Amino acid sequence: MSKREALAALAWQVENGADEALEAVPVNRLANPAPPPAASKPSRRPSQQFSDVRTSAPPVWTAQADSLSAPAEGLADARASAQAAKDIEALHQAIRAFDGCALKASATNTVIGRGNPAAKLILIGEAPGANEDRQGKPFVGEAGRLLDEMLRWIGLDESNVYITNVLFWRPPGNRNPTDSELALCRPFVDRQIELMAPDLLMFLGGIAAKSMLHESRGILKLRGHWYDYQATEGGRVIPALATLHPAYLLRQPAQKRFAWRDFLKFNQAITAGVRPS
Ligand code: URA
Repeated sequence: MSKREALAALAWQVENGADEALEAVPVNRLANPAPPPAASKPSRRPSQQFSDVRTSAPPVWTAQADSLSAPAEGLADARASAQAAKDIEALHQAIRAFDGCALKASATNTVIGRGNPAAKLILIGEAPGANEDRQGKPFVGEAGRLLDEMLRWIGLDESNVYITNVLFWRPPGNRNPTDSELALCRPFVDRQIELMAPDLLMFLGGIAAKSMLHESRGILKLRGHWYDYQATEGGRVIPALATLHPAYLLRQPAQKRFAWRDFLKFNQAITAGVRPS
């Protein structure tokens, strides 16, 4: 390949969003080489646990970050740091101070939440994009504007909701997050839910819904249904509704009718003070 062709190939990758020469997980090149993983060791806990849960009603979806493959040390740090935070302010500081997720290295800002941290309604999206990374706030781009409009449909705004993501740093080029990145952020997401003690949760889009619920079914199957969510084992059960991601609705506006139904369902639960069956 000529130098000119190589440069053109690099430029093409940058145009397509591959603008960071990073691996998903930091590599300690000073450590002794790790022994090869045992062939039989699964990186995920079998999802059979889920079908077990479904056979006994009602199903309760609990945090199980350890079921996702993540560096054990990073995961232990994330858990310890999240648990040590005794209020939401301390938790936000802990998230900003956490260096265990490699995404932080390529991000401009740590993006935690916007809205009212005392709100009883929490919306959880996927990850910051370019605008969010620049401004340090979730959902501030085009998808965020649509989300705000959807909230207005049912009389909500930043004064009564809190909006956050399952990841606190932008994946380079907006690629999909890895299981490890999701797992490393998860203790903080769950601690946020625990400390805020919301009445209702809403998961926005497939990445958020699937990772929060440890589900393999797609968002088109998951949306429109309520799930009983526990941020900690044995903790309070919080009704959670899954819906479509606003960025998906920008690409598929005809699907807004489903989101509309979901938002009405959410509103019904707010006004009734209970989760409709
Ligand atoms: N999409 C998300 O899921 N979260 C954001 O913060 C922005 C876009």
